[in-house]
Amino acid sequence: MRHDAIVIGGSFAGLSAATYIARATRSVAVIDAGAPRNRFAEASHGFLAQDGNRPAAILDAARAQVAAYPKVTIVAGRAIQAARAGSGFSVTLQGGEVLESERLVLAYGVSDDLPAIPGIAERWGKSVLHCPYCHGFEFAGQRLAVLATMPMSAHHAMLIAQWGPTTLLLNEAVTPEQHELEELERRGVAVETARVEALEGEGTTLRGIRLVDGRTVAADAMFLGPRVRMNSDIAQQLGCAMEEGPGGPIVRTDELKMTSVQGVFAAGDIARGMHSVTFACADGVMAGVALHRSLVF
Ligand SMILES: Cc1cc2nc3c(=O)[nH]c(=O)nc-3n(C[C@H](O)[C@H](O)[C@H](O)COP(=O)(O)OP(=O)(O)OC[C@H]3O[C@@H](n4cnc5c(N)ncnc54)[C@H](O)[C@@H]3O)c2cc1C
Repeated sequence: MRHDAIVIGGSFAGLSAATYIARATRSVAVIDAGAPRNRFAEASHGFLAQDGNRPAAILDAARAQVAAYPKVTIVAGRAIQAARAGSGFSVTLQGGEVLESERLVLAYGVSDDLPAIPGIAERWGKSVLHCPYCHGFEFAGQRLAVLATMPMSAHHAMLIAQWGPTTLLLNEAVTPEQHELEELERRGVAVETARVEALEGEGTTLRGIRLVDGRTVAADAMFLGPRVRMNSDIAQQLGCAMEEGPGGPIVRTDELKMTSVQGVFAAGDIARGMHSVTFACADGVMAGVALHRSLVF
């Protein structure tokens, strides 16, 4: 069976695209590997009417609603290859099954490359965080730290300081300019130059950050800006143009979320610099509407 659209990645961006395609009475297959980026967090914040709800609960409800439309097929699995096939595209799943469609939406998200410091991975999304708008409120007024990972980290620390007393841990990753040091001081951000050895605290809570010289910086939450990597190379297989985002390469799209390849749309974290559930859903809506119009006109 040839679908009007295949959506690769059935999370916030992909399910939003699929909803709009389904509501335009078109057939759509959503292929999803089931590992959304925010699965490490117990609660998602900032998404209207879902504030504080579990990411998996939001997605389960969204998937059930999309699946109730008559021409929607949800496929649990991983797409490994996509190529032109006649006027449309073929997509190969890990198990060898091949699906075909007239159009494609790429919405397979990104993964975070976390620094290899003991104690970070198990606290990711709980007390080690990247986005203050998503999780800063829960730590407002508490002791905060920012682990430098990139030149923007000094700026990140100035922002985080709005939520509580902040220490910037340079960790030999970044050397701030003199004007940045002055600005950090003006905002009351302490700067620590010693390398970080490990995070300390019960379970997934954070109480301190141990430095190689034996001292410990007291902290209840640590923020960092990770490098991100796309979860698939399907955009590259199709020849989609890329551009550099703040954390790594992203798929270049126009304002309709169409890539440089005719008929291929991209939405969510793989196709924008700033990441959130709301942005991903908005992108998915745009891609779904633009995809449908491209089938009509
Ligand atoms: C720890 C953490 C907490 C966060 N908390 C918040 C928050 O509170 N509020 C907020 O607004 N944002 C939050 N975010 C950001 C938010 O998670 C992302 O912006 C959002 O998930 C992006 O949606 P997406 O649909 O683009 O990608 P994702 O949600 O990452 O979904 C991509 C989907 O594609 C699937 N997939 C990947 N490769 C393939 C493939 N080859 N074939 C088929 N399927 C594939 C994946 O398994 C996944 O299900 C958080 C991020 C992190 C890391």
